[in-house]
Amino acid sequence: MGKRLMVVDDSRVVLLQMQKLLEGTEFEVAGYCRDGEEALDLYGKIQPDIVTMDIIMPGMDGLETAEAILEDDPEAKIVMVSSLAYDGTIREAEGLGVKAFVYKPIEKSDLLDALEKASEES
Ligand SMILES: [Mg+2]
Repeated sequence: MGKRLMVVDDSRVVLLQMQKLLEGTEFEVAGYCRDGEEALDLYGKIQPDIVTMDIIMPGMDGLETAEAILEDDPEAKIVMVSSLAYDGTIREAEGLGVKAFVYKPIEKSDLLDALEKASEES
């Protein structure tokens, strides 16, 4: 069975990149949204296997959104995807329970490694 992803990013370009990079893999984009509020709503509706989460977005940022999703569903598998590469940010994300971190610009191998890591952990 393929793994269903929800992509959260205020840039639609990232959605298109993600769809292209995941073509022919076991992962497919099942939902997309552009901000945190929408993400909380859509997560409940589509129950994705994995969430990829941008950090810098208008309104709630990706860390706040990840925290809120994990509060509702402690089993949520979230991978941060961002160019924000500071150690503090990564530690904060890990502290929240985020499974992996992928840097932008997104490399296919990094993305697949992170998604596989996230889907292995339970
Ligand atoms: Mg952004």
